[in-house]
Amino acid sequence: DVRVRFCPSPTGTPHVGMIRTALFNWAEARHTHGTFVFRIEDTDAHRDSEESYDQILDALHWLGIDWDEGLEVGGPDGPYRQSERSEIYADVAKRLLEAGYAYESYSTSEEIEARNVAAGRPKAFGYDGYDRDLSDEQKAAFRAEGRKPALRVRMPDEDVAFDDLIRGRIEFKAGSVPDYVIVRPNGDPLYTLTNPVDDAMMRINVVLRGEDLLSSTPRQIVLYRYLMKLGVAKEMPLFGHMPYVMGKGKKKLSKRDPESNLFLHRDHGFIREGLLNYLALLGWSIAPDRDVFSMEEMVEHFDVRDVKANPAHFDIDKAISINAEHIRMLEPQDFLNRSVPYLHRDGVVSADSWDALTDREREVLQAAAPLVQPRVRLLGEVSGMVASLLSGEEYIEPAPDARKQLKDSAADVLDRTIAALEGVDDAAWSTDSLHELLDRVLVEEGGIKPRLAFGPIRVAVSGRRVSPPLFESMAIIGKPLTLARLRGLRA
Ligand code: GLU
Repeated sequence: DVRVRFCPSPTGTPHVGMIRTALFNWAEARHTHGTFVFRIEDTDAHRDSEESYDQILDALHWLGIDWDEGLEVGGPDGPYRQSERSEIYADVAKRLLEAGYAYESYSTSEEIEARNVAAGRPKAFGYDGYDRDLSDEQKAAFRAEGRKPALRVRMPDEDVAFDDLIRGRIEFKAGSVPDYVIVRPNGDPLYTLTNPVDDAMMRINVVLRGEDLLSSTPRQIVLYRYLMKLGVAKEMPLFGHMPYVMGKGKKKLSKRDPESNLFLHRDHGFIREGLLNYLALLGWSIAPDRDVFSMEEMVEHFDVRDVKANPAHFDIDKAISINAEHIRMLEPQDFLNRSVPYLHRDGVVSADSWDALTDREREVLQAAAPLVQPRVRLLGEVSGMVASLLSGEEYIEPAPDARKQLKDSAADVLDRTIAALEGVDDAAWSTDSLHELLDRVLVEEGGIKPRLAFGPIRVAVSGRRVSPPLFESMAIIGKPLTLARLRGLRA
């Protein structure tokens, strides 16, 4: 039974790398019919926030990444917030100390640096093992000075190696990893303790996480061995380190990059299917020539051993084009339901859910859906496409690029169009008949080039250079509004 976990620290808004980690763990659990555990690593009171915690949950719910044990759903190994597990960590720390796997360390960082300099080592060399074998008298003397000890793990004098599921054999030479702190002098447990302890107690057997954590793996392996001797851990988990995500210019995508901000992508109108599909490609692929797939397909094919170790490149244009494909695959009503919150945000409709819209809004949107859905790449683009159809405005101020496009001949085109349309019966006001009529009057009889003929009409009706198809739009808004807008632009 594969048991994987997602264990973010709630220190900021959810970012692309974090969600890719959640997705790959989820896919591994679902593919193997294993168990996906979700816990929160909030042991750093200075950096953690409740807002970030809520945002992480919001992100997972929005994306439809679900879990089997953990926050909200519970499970046998809770609680699942580390801030609620202090007693567990204190108990394990005590046992590590008693067994000699950890020891009390009284050195301050200044003292460690000073010793490094005095011994001709670089200042930032790290901890030198000074407190490893303090006698009881020495410890008592430090305590008498008012010092409180940190707890450090004793690293063995041997190489530490493991087989990474993604990168193959990885070795750390003996002596290259200093003894490290697991409990601060004030008693606060650190990530270095809480993460492996929880992995052990939650019986995690596959640890899949970002390459940035590779350097902590030898320490965790050593601690895990001690936990196994103490009976806290049963078996050593397998580790897989997913590649860095690179942004523009060969730089790592930083958490603070706007392109990394998950909610910004949602605001722009990525749908979950599109964004997840793109995130899946950051280190993995379903087949050599295939970019677009569903999460069901990902689950069917995912294997962490197929994840590539090379850095992945975040390419927003590709992400958007994949999103467009997924938008096209939505059922039309689903497309509309999901578009409504964006339309409401942009002030184009009166409510933020389909059911709360007016009858007229629903009618126009249903008529517009087949025109708009194939033409948008992000749901945020829907507003611009349908605003002129929903608006009752008799004059639409052309966008600057649309106005620029109007030639001198526009006035003549508008006059001819108005004259021709005035004669159309209400009953005959349809896409086909409008198309046929204006083709005949303007292009065939008037000898005007189609681009010059229909450009000004489009600008009058929609205010835009690019819009949903023109005759369909005129059919949707009806004769009085079409004529009013043509006259408005002519004036
Ligand atoms: N809380 C850690 C982080 O957010 C998780 C590291 C891990 O997956 O082991 O970076």
